[in-house]
Amino acid sequence: MKEPPVIDIISPHGMCAGVHAAVAKALAEGKKSEVPLYCLHELVHNEIVIDELKALGFIFVDSVEQIPVGETVVFSAHGVSPQIRKAAAERKLKVIDTTCPFVAKVHSVAKDFTEKKLPVVILGDEKHIEVQGIVGEIESVGGKAYCGFSSAIENASLPAGSKIAVVAQTTMNAEKVAAEIEALGKKFKVKNAARVCGATDERQEAVRRYAETALPGTGVLVLGSRTSANSKRLAEVAAASGLKTFFAGSLEELENIDFSGVKRLGVTSGASTPERFFSEAIRRLRHIPEHVAIIMDGNGRWATSRGKPRGEGHKAGAKTLGDVLDWCGKKGVKYLTVYAFSTENWKRPKSEVTGLMNLFAAMLKKKERDFIKNRVRFRMIGRRGDLSKSLLRVIEALELKTQEFERQFIVAISYGGRAEIVDAVNSAISRGEPVTEESFRKYLYAGDIPDPDLVIRTSGECRTSNFLLWESAYSEYYFTDVLWPDFSEEEFDKAIASYAGRNRRRGGV
Ligand code: SF4
Repeated sequence: MKEPPVIDIISPHGMCAGVHAAVAKALAEGKKSEVPLYCLHELVHNEIVIDELKALGFIFVDSVEQIPVGETVVFSAHGVSPQIRKAAAERKLKVIDTTCPFVAKVHSVAKDFTEKKLPVVILGDEKHIEVQGIVGEIESVGGKAYCGFSSAIENASLPAGSKIAVVAQTTMNAEKVAAEIEALGKKFKVKNAARVCGATDERQEAVRRYAETALPGTGVLVLGSRTSANSKRLAEVAAASGLKTFFAGSLEELENIDFSGVKRLGVTSGASTPERFFSEAIRRLRHIPEHVAIIMDGNGRWATSRGKPRGEGHKAGAKTLGDVLDWCGKKGVKYLTVYAFSTENWKRPKSEVTGLMNLFAAMLKKKERDFIKNRVRFRMIGRRGDLSKSLLRVIEALELKTQEFERQFIVAISYGGRAEIVDAVNSAISRGEPVTEESFRKYLYAGDIPDPDLVIRTSGECRTSNFLLWESAYSEYYFTDVLWPDFSEEEFDKAIASYAGRNRRRGGV
């Protein structure tokens, strides 16, 4: 197997405050609106975000004239010209304005200079809607905007030696802006008001710093959309630093990149790239399993070997479980399923069973704040009817409070793999539906969750013990002699490294 590159995360990376605020505002408005909202141009240059908005019913248009009178328009983070605001008002459109404050500041500076009769040069791409918005701002107060770069401006109808003001598209490369200002300064008296956005600058600077200390064989991967100016600039900065540079706008594209010869890979992302795309890409690059399931075995033996009651072993095991959940978050594991109590465990002494049920309830109550803070969705799989009403109330309240979160923690209580299959078959029969392998999945306790990639079992036992029988058909197994309360991060890393080194053929060749 080819050795995968060591992955470094280049920070800062990803969504800037302006894009983050614009996306959050649009999503919130889209969720509460009962009618479609119209977005003038792409809200931000990223297909993943655009698809999410489309799924909420957003309609993307290129001009306000395409929006029916009286409807709602969203102005993007890139800002719009006063002329567009006027046209929206004439159509009686309700406006949701997500213009980034940094872009709004450039508009106001350009307008001030124009009102002071200074010609304004905008360094940037004249076709970019941010630049078009600034041009409109200048024209709205009777000025003329000069767009482009020094070579074009020098040939414009501006007399040599005249005073000019310079602003810049916020996503310009800071070094390029400095060079352009210097070039313009040779012919004009330049009032420099060009400020590339701090977010853009910081992300570019981080790539430069990474490149400075990079050893031969190091590459840079930029994650972002090809329509995103700042993502493209990041790739330019990396390439200019002499590093082999890669670009991926989607996970499919990432899967097809050939990293041969790259020993170390710095990963960054543009200011419009969602963090969930970034973390999923990192997870794949590091070969971290998406779903880890654990048979937490050995609490009783751990306690007995220390002359303690078995209940102490369960308490120590609960502490380990909390740690594992944190490590999963840190390493990018999206789903963690643990086998806490099997359908067979009801045969244990009553005092032990009662102690365990009380421990579940206490742990869930104690951890509620952590689940919410860390945005972890809690779910239970198993026969709910076997549980006491009070425990079930705690479980279902927590499931409800955390249902929006993406990362998931699934606890199997009164669970058996055979019982799950039997329950699923009975559900299908009661609906009178014949099943296929695919449709059967929806009758499982949590059929929407992908199958576990890796199943870990502690305490030296090498059995599946009726755990996730259907779901683990193609899972990789990792067995360790370590008793569950002693399961450490080092052991967890060993399990993940073992998984990363396996060639998962899933029945193929
Ligand atoms: S890159 Fe800068 S200017 Fe552009 S939206 Fe983000 S914060 Fe605003």
